[in-house]
Amino acid sequence: MAINFDTPVVVNREQRLGTIIAWDGSASELSDLSEYSRKSCGGSCGENKRKLCEATGPFTQGSCCSEQMVECQAGQVRDAVLIQHSPIGCAASQVGNSLIYRVGMAMTGKPVENLRWISTNLKEQDMVFGGVERLEQSIRDAWERQHPKVIFIATSCATGIIGDDVDGAAGKMEAELGIPVIPLHCEGFKSKHWSTGFDAAQHGIIRQIVRKNPKKQEDLVNVIKLWGSDVFTPMFAQLDLRVNYVVDLASVDDLAQMSEAAATVGFCHTLSSYLASGLEQEFGVPEIKAPQPYGFAGTDAWLRELARVTNRVEKAEAYIAREHARVKPRLAELRKLLKGKKGYVSTGSAYAHGLISVLKELGVEVDGSLVFHHDPVYDSGDPRQDSLAHLVDTYGDIPSFSVSNRQQYQFYGLLQRVKPDFILIRHPGLAPLASRLGIPAAPLGDEHIALGYQGIINLGETILEILSRRKFHQKLAGHVRMPYKKSWLEQDPYSLSN
Ligand code: SF4
Repeated sequence: MAINFDTPVVVNREQRLGTIIAWDGSASELSDLSEYSRKSCGGSCGENKRKLCEATGPFTQGSCCSEQMVECQAGQVRDAVLIQHSPIGCAASQVGNSLIYRVGMAMTGKPVENLRWISTNLKEQDMVFGGVERLEQSIRDAWERQHPKVIFIATSCATGIIGDDVDGAAGKMEAELGIPVIPLHCEGFKSKHWSTGFDAAQHGIIRQIVRKNPKKQEDLVNVIKLWGSDVFTPMFAQLDLRVNYVVDLASVDDLAQMSEAAATVGFCHTLSSYLASGLEQEFGVPEIKAPQPYGFAGTDAWLRELARVTNRVEKAEAYIAREHARVKPRLAELRKLLKGKKGYVSTGSAYAHGLISVLKELGVEVDGSLVFHHDPVYDSGDPRQDSLAHLVDTYGDIPSFSVSNRQQYQFYGLLQRVKPDFILIRHPGLAPLASRLGIPAAPLGDEHIALGYQGIINLGETILEILSRRKFHQKLAGHVRMPYKKSWLEQDPYSLSN
């Protein structure tokens, strides 16, 4: 279905893609139920038969929201300012975001600086009389202090409730200042999964920043990333392609030239689906429709599709052959060292599919995994992007494949089912719980670590490193008590009731 860029409000993931945040079963069952033909689940609940049925839990222990994802996308554009039209509490995560931004700037050789953001700091009185005046004043302050090329406005639950005319204020201030002032509608309560916030930021960028009359650059490829290390530049140089990294740490000019690129890729469909599809729909920039670049099968197919679209087939084939020959000897050694080891992946959805592929290449057993949500389809609707089906068809089933939006109370029981030797985790909030159970975790702060051929080796080395600390975690487990009652811990994580 075409994305509607005529309205400033993004359609949330559950409406667009049928996204769910709770489910329990095997990877193959979830893949079958998510088939791109969207077969009926056969249930008798009377729901729309195209909907993937979702598990329910007794409560939500802790999570994240769309507004926070806007912070980590629009808030990390270098020459922009993000205004959070919200109570100050919504901005609590900016302390961590600022650290990530500073580290990212240092890693990419740019001058280290703090984030540029302002909270309108809504109070009780604003909830009664409205906060538009505060918003307009904050936009003027941002302009006077920073002279940014763009000002983003993130909405919040509070502004959604009181119904402030954020679009009206943005239009007025855009005319006054002469720069794009972009409302991003990301009220936390409007979507049950935070990844809608990625889409909200990308929606505003496509509408108001991307150049409308592009002059094509045939060797430029948009790479949708977060803060990961620069693995794409050397890889693409082998194909005579240049990288345009977006959205985090990008400049406004980098974002504007996205319409001029020859193709768009990403490290994870969860993050890149909306922006890549939108660029193809609005500007004819092809999205690379292939499995994600993890493991040999995924990386080969991804490179071949990129090469086909950019007319670089011979160069890609030569690169693929060289890389296979280069990494296979070390891979053979790693497989011996990791034989019999059991891993568990706990990350965002499509990224987890990629990481599990790499574990399987390393010969690691994966009997269980937890993904933070599940999109039955991505925005392109193209089956070549069905990353879960690619995982199951290429590497086999995962018997305990759970969907949960980072609920600690479920995580304990899920780990007990499979008792892994280690876990891979991206959002580190769950790692301390695993440590209490004696299980070491690799917090994958650099999201590119497992990508491509070198990524297989990188991940194998990382696992060896964390396994060397297993004894420490086991000692720790022997000296800590779980905060849960025995009766609670004995229940199935998806049927907890008291
Ligand atoms: S937008 Fe809503 S859910 Fe998000 S931090 Fe603010 S109050 Fe919480």
